[in-house]
Amino acid sequence: MENEKWLLGIDIGGTSVKLAFLSEEGDIIHKWEIPTNIANNGSSIISDIGKSVHQKLAELNVPHEKLKAAGVGAPGPIDQEKGVMFEAVNLGWPDNYQLRNLMQEAVGVPVAIENDANSAALGEMWKGAGKGAKDLIAITLGTGVGGGVIVNGDIVHGAKGAAGEVGHITAVPEGGYMCNCGKTGCLETVASATGIVRTAKALLAEYEGDTKLNKNGDFTAKDIFDAAQADDELALITVDSLANHLGLALANIGSTFNPEKIVIGGGVSKAGDFLIGKIGQYFKKYAFKPVGESTDIVLAQLGNDAGIAGAAWLAANKN
Ligand SMILES: [Zn+2]
Repeated sequence: MENEKWLLGIDIGGTSVKLAFLSEEGDIIHKWEIPTNIANNGSSIISDIGKSVHQKLAELNVPHEKLKAAGVGAPGPIDQEKGVMFEAVNLGWPDNYQLRNLMQEAVGVPVAIENDANSAALGEMWKGAGKGAKDLIAITLGTGVGGGVIVNGDIVHGAKGAAGEVGHITAVPEGGYMCNCGKTGCLETVASATGIVRTAKALLAEYEGDTKLNKNGDFTAKDIFDAAQADDELALITVDSLANHLGLALANIGSTFNPEKIVIGGGVSKAGDFLIGKIGQYFKKYAFKPVGESTDIVLAQLGNDAGIAGAAWLAANKN
């Protein structure tokens, strides 16, 4: 396809920036990454990206005209129409950062911006587990819990770009753990990798039976899932607690949007069908019946590429 243009997908994270050239159909042609330099309030992040893109084009012997447009996912709430990022604490950027204009200057093509979790949700919708679904909720279970809500093929942003922040739904109204957002009892405090380890430690302190989990509390989320799959009672109770919290939160979001699919990704989701099955049981228990019957809970498929695929979707559809 000599004449076909390329899309540029950019996924900015706190430690690295993932970049890719993709076809207009969203297939990755070439991908690479560079470190995120957060020194001096992240002031070189955008110029680093611009330089890297031009360098890569030269390396591949491809003219700049080959690029059609770019999309960017970045960690924080955004105003897509104004092209502004309200805040990006992880990167050190000042509030109301003119991300779109600055990035357009750096890469030399039209740019559309999105919150990184939303971008990953769009990626899964376009090229991953959500393929074909126009109403979809994606959640990422990692060190935190991120999310994106897609209605009729597009992200729901809300008044201040903060819609879809599933991780900060209150899951424990009384006596919950402190969350990074300043509130207590957020879903993130009980359903992230950090959260499930904390739950297991709390249960372990009062548990009198045998368990495969290290009594000193030296274990990871993966150890808990492995032990649960080997029928370890304490690990099973821990996973059940996580599935209960997630099932409840997803059932409430599900009853609001009745999505076709709920896509679950991130490190914790590596527990796979075992975890999906348990979440599904609680989801059905708590959801409005027609929602429980019509919403599929599925595993994400794109892994770390979801963000760049979603950024490319923005490049293709929002410019
Ligand atoms: Zn929170």
